Amino acid sequence: MTRNIALIVVSVCLTGCIVNPVTGERELGLISSQQEIAIGQAQYAPAQQMQGGAYTTDAALSAYVSRIGNKLAQSSGVDLPYEFVVLNNSVPNAWALPGGKIAINRGLLQALRNEGEVAAVLGHEIAHAAARHGAKRVERSYVTQGAVLLAAIGSIGSDYAPYVVGAAQFGATLLNQKYSRNAEREADYYGTGFMAKAGYDPYAAITLQETFARLAGEGNSSWLQGLFASHPASMERVANNKMLVKQLRREGFTSGIFGQAEFETAMSELMSAQPAYDAFDEAMSLYAEDELEAAAGEIAKAIRLYGRESQFHGLRGSIRNKQARWTDAITNFDRAIDRNSGYFAFYLSRGLAYAQLEEPTNAKQNLDHSVRLLPTATAYQALGKIAEARGDVSAAKVYYQQASQGQNSASTAARSSLVRLEVADQPAKYITARIRLNERKEYVVEVTNRTGVALKNIVVRVELKMASVTKTRSVRIAKLKAKSSYVGKLKVDGVVSGGRAYAVSAQFLGG
Ligand SMILES: [Zn+2]
Repeated sequence: MTRNIALIVVSVCLTGCIVNPVTGERELGLISSQQEIAIGQAQYAPAQQMQGGAYTTDAALSAYVSRIGNKLAQSSGVDLPYEFVVLNNSVPNAWALPGGKIAINRGLLQALRNEGEVAAVLGHEIAHAAARHGAKRVERSYVTQGAVLLAAIGSIGSDYAPYVVGAAQFGATLLNQKYSRNAEREADYYGTGFMAKAGYDPYAAITLQETFARLAGEGNSSWLQGLFASHPASMERVANNKMLVKQLRREGFTSGIFGQAEFETAMSELMSAQPAYDAFDEAMSLYAEDELEAAAGEIAKAIRLYGRESQFHGLRGSIRNKQARWTDAITNFDRAIDRNSGYFAFYLSRGLAYAQLEEPTNAKQNLDHSVRLLPTATAYQALGKIAEARGDVSAAKVYYQQASQGQNSASTAARSSLVRLEVADQPAKYITARIRLNERKEYVVEVTNRTGVALKNIVVRVELKMASVTKTRSVRIAKLKAKSSYVGKLKVDGVVSGGRAYAVSAQFLGG
């Protein structure tokens, strides 16, 4: 297998090779730099939505991080349309998409101590993008699988990944794939070089690793599911970094800064709001465990401490939705959207609350808005129900079709709705029928319900070619469970030369 891949790479390299802009090595270049940039541009917005959305609460902090990122991007010498965003997510994490689209979570900034450490994180991510590590992962899946296969979507740091449908699924896959160890080594090496060139003390890359090790060692669970999951601190990484810092000092990078004062100024608002975010994190885990009263208490505390934060109001709305207090929930989502009008989950949840109040126009408007920001199975399933309720079956089918591509319960419900709407008119789409010989050499008809729901009143037409005539029969099946088959013997007098069987009618039973 490995040899085959190597052969493919060699033969493709005759025409499709490029020189890596960072390492200078020759490598496979199936994806052009324009394609790389296009992937990053298409996936950047949905990837941000999946991870909590942009942190808009403190615009000055986001601008500060962008300034650091742009300085490092310049020192990388690789020209890409770089962009940097702080995400409103408590998990300490950072990532890069192909083409220089980079994100760092609020939760990671809260764990850092100086600007040099921010630069170490961003330098590492810039190196991943500049050295085409993301593009190479996509290329590897071309070579090994013949196509960009949407691998099983994990859940590392992206709570919404299983809900996402359509083109945004690709972004979810990109975020959850791990880089190779070699790519990590390169990102450490070049990233630290970029920060030294940008005027930072490269020693900050070592203190960053020590912070990783300390937080992981304390068993901090959010740390373990965040950056540490893809970037485990190892003795090897620390040793490599120490060697590199020595080398950079010999090369004259001796007057770099840590930028502690600058960092503390930029972080002052977020740091003073820390107790509010701690209460929010606590409320989140209580909410996930359905401890709704306790969650409501914690989120009230967070809002008292720092009412500017949209996510606090959003979580309060979600708690109210779970308590079936729809009108209260809508008030909370209104407040969340007043503070941040760019996050899909507020519109999705407000749309679901309006649907419960039987206000389809408001529900549809909010759900449509959420889908424009991030297409989810949950939103499409709800839109399908609204369309069906107003009698627009063809629109409902389109929504259910879109919802059915996901991997959560909304997708399962949508698949079931599609069967319900379509099985009467298109039974053959869901039911397979065939004629075959059994082990006793008797002709049997085998009818399979391929759907995830039970069907009833199935009628299958059987056509048997016998000498010069075709004999037709009907087979009726009162009920056929999900994913199950019926086998019935056919009475045949004579020699059969061919034939076929197909479902002509069926009804939805459900379950
Ligand atoms: Zn990395």
